[in-house]
Amino acid sequence: MSTATTKDHPHLAAEFNRDEPRVNWHDETLWWVRAKRDIAAHKLPEWELLRETASQIKFNVLSNLSTYLEQFEANAIKNGIIVHWAADAAEHNQIVHNLLEQRGITKMVKSKSMLTEECHLNEYLKEQGIDVIDSDLGERIVQLANEPPSHIVLPCIHKKKEEIGDIFHEHLGSAKGESDPKILTETARQHLREVFLTRRAALTGVNFAVAETGEFVICTNEGNADMGAHLAEIHIASMGIEKIIPERKHLGVFLRLLTRSATGQPITTYSSHFSKPQDGTEIHIVIVDNGRSIQLGREEFRNSLKCIRCGACMNTCPVYRKSGGHSYHTAVAGPIGSILAPNLDMKKYADLPFASTLCGSCSNVCPVKIDIHDQLYKWRQVIVKEGYSPKAKTMAMKAMALTLASPTLYRMGGKTGRLVFKYAPFAVNNKLNPWYNQREMPKAPDESFGEWYAKRKGAKN
Ligand code: SF4
Repeated sequence: MSTATTKDHPHLAAEFNRDEPRVNWHDETLWWVRAKRDIAAHKLPEWELLRETASQIKFNVLSNLSTYLEQFEANAIKNGIIVHWAADAAEHNQIVHNLLEQRGITKMVKSKSMLTEECHLNEYLKEQGIDVIDSDLGERIVQLANEPPSHIVLPCIHKKKEEIGDIFHEHLGSAKGESDPKILTETARQHLREVFLTRRAALTGVNFAVAETGEFVICTNEGNADMGAHLAEIHIASMGIEKIIPERKHLGVFLRLLTRSATGQPITTYSSHFSKPQDGTEIHIVIVDNGRSIQLGREEFRNSLKCIRCGACMNTCPVYRKSGGHSYHTAVAGPIGSILAPNLDMKKYADLPFASTLCGSCSNVCPVKIDIHDQLYKWRQVIVKEGYSPKAKTMAMKAMALTLASPTLYRMGGKTGRLVFKYAPFAVNNKLNPWYNQREMPKAPDESFGEWYAKRKGAKN
């Protein structure tokens, strides 16, 4: 289930684009979700005030992160929660494995956690002989299909119900050809019920961790995090260092923004607070850095750590909607993933900041006002300066800069270009040009605007 790939975004997008009906339906479905978000946002006259407040709260958090993290740790310990710190993905995975191994646990249920996707926890635990079942319905579907999620809120949005029917038939024994969503959901429900009742360990993500009280909050629509955590002997919660908010009263701001931005609902069906373990059970929280402190130190990109993972920037992004989440070859896809991933590995993810039209729609919908499209633009500059952009592209850009700086070269270039387009289009429209794969090149005009204008002017004089 690894996302490891040598292909870049244009090539993976081309693969997704081979199935045109799927692309259209993916595009329309996500736009429908985006429209629901607009309706929900417009119903609140104080929407912009909420966004600004959330952004400022997160600004405060990021400016005093170590203080809030230590305050959270002290209060969580007071509540009886055991706190672990992980510098990176490997350390996080090792901590989780040790906790299971020490208790002789070989099976675990897990609710949605993009951090564990980022750390490739499932693959790691599988290698150690631990069986992990994802309990979020969408996550379970992609897990059975042996694929990573394609969207942070709607993990199997790229799958049609008929495909899900086939997967359930193969793995869960539903009737062949059954694609009724209600029946398929009931099949998953019966399957997961048995998992919840028999697993001794449950892992969850964390949406918000409150420094003031040492509690943490998990938001789900299915109640699967609660089912797992309440029935298990040990609850392990994985949390990125940026999930902190200072006080409980701030939750009101974020909970009002989160699901309205994600799906257009007024609030998540379950927003569950975990503050201390029940008698006879344990709660462990693993606080993970994994490159976040480096991003915190990059002033121009620091704001990206404000993200509350609502997915609105993906739903609105024309490139994401047309290229699908897997084309981003990283755990968090879309515009926000494209500014988080290069921080983790600039070489591997050098293609992602270019997977954008820079239209700014992502920044407009972001509930915590991250300047996403500005950061995408800035990453492009960093990637070129650091030498991670393809050599051919760098040379082409240099040639373009020279041409645009000289009217003579510009005119000559235009003439040559029109001739090439007319008599040797294969020199441009070929497989070496990945953008051409998804596009039809326009017919080159016979003359430039300058020539046309000069002719008209001459005719009038
Ligand atoms: S960047 Fe903003 S819009 Fe995108 S997922 Fe994060 S909070 Fe939501």
